[in-house]
Parts: sequence; C-alpha cells; structure tokens
Amino acid sequence: MLPLVALVGRPNVGKSTLFNALTRTRDALVHDQPGVTRDRHYGVCRLIEGRPFALVDTGGIEGEGEDLAGATTRQARAAALDADLILFIVDGREGASGLDAEILAWLRRSGRAFRLVVNKTDGVDVHAALADFARFGVEDALPIAASHQRGIDDLLDIVEASLPETADAEENVDLDRMRLAFIGRPNVGKSTLVNRLLGEERVIASDVPGTTRDAIAIDLDRDGRKYTLVDTAGIRKKGRVDEVVEKFSIIKTLQAIETCQVAVVLIDAGEGVTEQDATVLGHVLDAGRALVVAVNKWDGQSEYQRSQTMALLDRKLSFVDWAERVTISAKHGSGLRELFAAIHRAHASATRKFTTSEVTRALEIAYEAFQPPVVRGHVAKLRFAHPGGENPPTFIVHGTRLKTLPVSYKRYLENFFRKRYKLVGTPVKFEFREGD
Ligand code: GDP
Ligand code: GDP
Repeated sequence: MLPLVALVGRPNVGKSTLFNALTRTRDALVHDQPGVTRDRHYGVCRLIEGRPFALVDTGGIEGEGEDLAGATTRQARAAALDADLILFIVDGREGASGLDAEILAWLRRSGRAFRLVVNKTDGVDVHAALADFARFGVEDALPIAASHQRGIDDLLDIVEASLPETADAEENVDLDRMRLAFIGRPNVGKSTLVNRLLGEERVIASDVPGTTRDAIAIDLDRDGRKYTLVDTAGIRKKGRVDEVVEKFSIIKTLQAIETCQVAVVLIDAGEGVTEQDATVLGHVLDAGRALVVAVNKWDGQSEYQRSQTMALLDRKLSFVDWAERVTISAKHGSGLRELFAAIHRAHASATRKFTTSEVTRALEIAYEAFQPPVVRGHVAKLRFAHPGGENPPTFIVHGTRLKTLPVSYKRYLENFFRKRYKLVGTPVKFEFREGD
C-alpha cells in the first residue's frame, strides 16, 4: 500500500512549489530526457529514508466536464478525502484570508486528519506569521519556506509519523510470485488483457470490493510460473456511478507501479503515444521499475499502418529505448507468449546479481576505451565500482572530481554496461561517490 498525502490550499500559497520539492526525482539523468512528461499533480515522494508515499496536489486542476480532465478534478478532490494526511497550506506573508477559513471549514467537516502548514516564512517574523493563523484554533502549525527548502525535513517527519503502519501488507507478499502491473490509459485494453489471461471465471471470483485507490492483486498461474497481477482497471464493477474516475485512477496506477516488479505499459496501436502515456512512463522511470511496452489492438492495423505506428513509437519512446516492445491483440490473444518472454527477460535483467570484481573490471574497460573530457581544466578520474543493488541494477562508482562528469559520459557508461551485461527492459542506475 502506498500511503497518500494531499496538498490543499487556495491558489498561490506555494502548493506546486512544495509538490516539486517533495517529488522531484534526484535522478536528474532520468528526467533530462526529451519525451518524458512530468505529472504536475500526482507524484511519489521518495526523498526520505523511510517508505515512499503518493502525493496529490489538488490545486490548479482545470476542468469539470465529463471528459478525462473533469474526471481528474473530481478524482483529486476525492483523493483528498481519502488521504491518510491532508496538508493544509497557507501563505505566511499574506496572512489568513476568507478563502483559507472556508477551506478550513471544509476540512473540519471532512473529518480527515490534517496539518496546518504556513508557507513563505522566509524573510518574515515566523512568530508573527504563525500568530495570524492562531485564530484558526489549529494546533501545531508548521512554518516552512518551500522555495528555500526550509522546514521540509520537519514536514517529512510529521508525514512519516502520521502514515499508517504497513507491516502486515508487506508480510503478505508471496516472494515466489512475480508481481506484474498492467497499466495504461482508459480503453487501451487492460481489462480485456487481464480477463484473457485469467479466464472469465477467475475474474468473477476475484471481484472483491476495493476503494477507488486500492489496486487489486490477483494470482495467475501460467505455463508453470506464478504471478500476481496488480490490477488497475481489469475488474469491472457493476453499476459504478463514476466509471471514468473508477477506470482511470492515477493513485491506483502509482500504487501498482510501486508494488510491481515488472510494469507492462499498454499503448493503443491506433492512437500512438499520447501525453498521458508519456506521463505514465515517467512514473515507471521514477520508480526504477522493469518495463515492457505492449502495443495493443495490433489486429486492427493494416500493414501500412503497422509500419507507420512502429516508426512513430521509435521516435516517441526513444527515452525508454531499452524497453522491449511487443505487439499484441488482447482481444484475440495473440502475442502473449512473446509478451511473457519479454517480461521474463526484463525481470532477469532487473534482478541480475553482480560481483564487485566484474563491475570494477567493466568500469576499467569502459574508462580505458574512452576517458572523461576536460571540464574547466579538470578531468574526472574513475577508480573502481561495486554493485549497489537490484531492481533496478545500480552501480556505485568511486573516483575523484566526479562533479565534472558530463551527462554524456554517464550515458556512455550506462550504454556500455547495458551492452556488456545484455540488460534489457530495466532502468540502470549509477551513483557517483567522491574518493575511495
Ligand atoms: P500554488 O498556486 O499554491 O501551487 O502556488 P505556487 O507553488 O505556484 O507558488 C506561488 C508563488 O509563491 C510562486 O511565485 C512561488 O515562487 C512563490 N513561493 C512558493 N513558496 C514560497 C516560499 O517558501 N517563499 C516565497 N517567498 N515564495 C514562495
Ligand atoms: P481498459 O479501459 O484499458 O480496461 O480497456 P478495455 O479492456 O475495456 O478495452 C476497451 C475497448 O477496446 C473494448 O471495446 C475492447 O473490446 C477493445 N479492445 C481491447 N483489446 C483489443 C484488441 O486487441 N483489439 C481490438 N480491436 N480491440 C480491443
């Protein structure tokens, strides 16, 4: 379970600044790439040592209609009411306003746990800023300055302390089963695929009620292998009032990505890669998950369309060019053997074990073949490397003047390691540490 924290407050108090401070990935390499779209309203905070949590910024989401934009607005509000903790953000420079009081009343009616966070306390008298909100009668208001990264650690402590325990859920994970998430936009064919894999009976049997934010886990045994499908939309609930919201829950998607070992992102062959697809792929990258791209509805495409689609995907998916792409028809059940073969290759790459000596040897060969360029009179020197973990494979490189290593050289190292170890379907991470 990925706990959920919601940011609530009137416009301009600094919600999106705080959202960015909490969710911005420290892995700049990942997000420097053209084609990745960042989600402005939903993210996962992984900055603390402790467990990650999902963050939703309920502000500034436009649209009220019956379309997807409208659905996400309603969803954000619903998400706030479903959150484990609401952070009520106010502006410490402007002081309390009428709109703040209205939001406060709404929060109190909701009965949800919330904390008052007084932002923009840089360059002002913190006590005076807090005093202005004393009339709200909310205890323990926390002063921060989001744009200066001030108070963020205290805020994270508060968040961590108020999130529910997880021990039970983690104990229930069956280590023999590979956890797969099938994700993608509404109508891309997720339910059709999951239903085909499970068979109708199983689906009905597994139709357990969940809240709008719980992804549902279903066991699948196939060709002698055991899987758990982390399902985001596969199970239809009869008589759903708000099917658009139900069918496209970003929180569910984030949670499915977080809890899976391999993410299968479905793309509609007829529609190509939309911004939403790129955003979902961005979340998979952030989480460092193994990835297979399934191009669905391949049956409906003419030969000419197929070649056009492939060329388009090459271009639009260049930021995940290491991910295998499999064409399938969920409706007819074709391509599924290839899909599972790719899933297994991705999983094998993501969990490959490395020794320090082989990793150091690889670094030496890469370094001898091509040395880092001189940057402002300095050259980085790479000394040795050791494995830093799996899922994704992580390599820790030690050396000197590593700050001068250009992104291009980091990419060179990544590609070198990918090739040498035939790593497909998984992100690869490097961490650079100064000294021995
Ligand atoms: P939102 O509408 O609540 O999402 O607010 P934004 O995050 O867009 O911030 C509104 C404005 O306040 C921007 O100009 C920010 O740069 C500024 N801002 C945000 N946090 C701080 C802060 O801690 N101190 C100061 N001085 N300005 C801030
Ligand atoms: P979900 O919202 O992602 O779960 O999508 P659904 O599984 O509900 O599928 C949406 C529509 O696409 C349905 O009408 C399906 O019959 C159709 N569909 C799904 N997979 C395929 C496929 O492989 N080929 C074709 N032609 N249609 C498909």
